[in-house]
Amino acid sequence: MEYKINPSIRTPYFLVDENLLLHNLEILKQVSQQTGCKILLAQKAFSMFSVYPLMRQYLAGTTASGLYEAKLGKEEFGGETHIFSPAYREDEFQEILQCVDDIVFNSPSQLKKYAAIAKQAGKSVGLRLNPECSTQEGHAIYDPCSPGSRLGTTLEQFDETLLPLLDGLHFHTLCEQNSDDLEITVNALEQKFGKYLSQMKWLNLGGGHHITRSDYDIQRLIKIIQHLQKTYGVQVYLEPGEAVVLNAGFLVSSVLEIVQNQISIAILDTSAACHMPDVLEMPYRPPVQQSGQPDEKSYTYRLAGPTCLAGDVIGDYSFDTPLNIGDKIVFEDMALYTMVKTNTFNGMPLPSIVYRDKSGNEHLIKTFGYQDFKNRLS
Ligand SMILES: *Cc1c(COP(=O)(O)O)cnc(C)c1O
Repeated sequence: MEYKINPSIRTPYFLVDENLLLHNLEILKQVSQQTGCKILLAQKAFSMFSVYPLMRQYLAGTTASGLYEAKLGKEEFGGETHIFSPAYREDEFQEILQCVDDIVFNSPSQLKKYAAIAKQAGKSVGLRLNPECSTQEGHAIYDPCSPGSRLGTTLEQFDETLLPLLDGLHFHTLCEQNSDDLEITVNALEQKFGKYLSQMKWLNLGGGHHITRSDYDIQRLIKIIQHLQKTYGVQVYLEPGEAVVLNAGFLVSSVLEIVQNQISIAILDTSAACHMPDVLEMPYRPPVQQSGQPDEKSYTYRLAGPTCLAGDVIGDYSFDTPLNIGDKIVFEDMALYTMVKTNTFNGMPLPSIVYRDKSGNEHLIKTFGYQDFKNRLS
């Protein structure tokens, strides 16, 4: 879907579109209605809390990676608040207990250390498992089953004395994957830990399910959830991040300058390093509206950021007409893992946050300035 630029809003800005968001939320709600599973927003992918009241109508709650996300979920979203962390801090644990309903531990030693306190506070307690079943190729930093991973308890580390401490089990091994990989993972989980599942109240299948992508096999997901619930009597949870806001947002930027060095390079007012760090970290090439692959259209440019980092390059794209200073460049699929990851390296301004409602009206939700840069330093 094309985003028509509103010339009155200063670039760069993130824009989240209500209709695109609703499209995803409807799909997720159908999955939970058809199966009885509960779906939580993984806030680490998207924490734009001004839209939490809308999302709350479709999702059961949130999950958090630490105290601050848990607080935000409890304050702004409501519903169920879950948390997972590889290691909890003693000085935060009481405050975490005040925010969450379900707490997932990463290792037997963390479970033994905190389970009794958590249970006394009335919390549901779980353990993250590592089913040691890699289904991802290429993105080792996103594979919690890679050799030597610190994430999740392996069968070798698991022992049955942990069972009385547990209400549920959790795994998270997928990243942008379809339900065939989930099926492979669930098979591995059942082989290793199947005999314990019927002693649990719930099973959390983590995130990484690309449920709202057009080629995602939802029927298979539904079958897997129904199988788990029927066989083991567990409440199934999913906690997608990406899938909730997939293709629901844009990052709008302007061309500041064009320089030449073997290729034409457009310097934008948005930076890969500061505003879309996954472009460099993952890495990936974000879609740009009305563009093609290099040389596919008549005019090819390298799109790059305004920082001093030589590698602050977004990618090479071609356009039907030459780019001019002041032209707008619209990056697509920019709601996920962007706003939550921005930084002010080089003193870069943070992009504003804009919301386009169902009727197409744009609301400037938040702008940032010099104080946001200065406040993080001293
Ligand atoms: C990152 C993460 C998620 C969300 O993953 P997506 O790929 O954004 O769906 C869910 N649960 C855990 C434990 C995570 O680390």
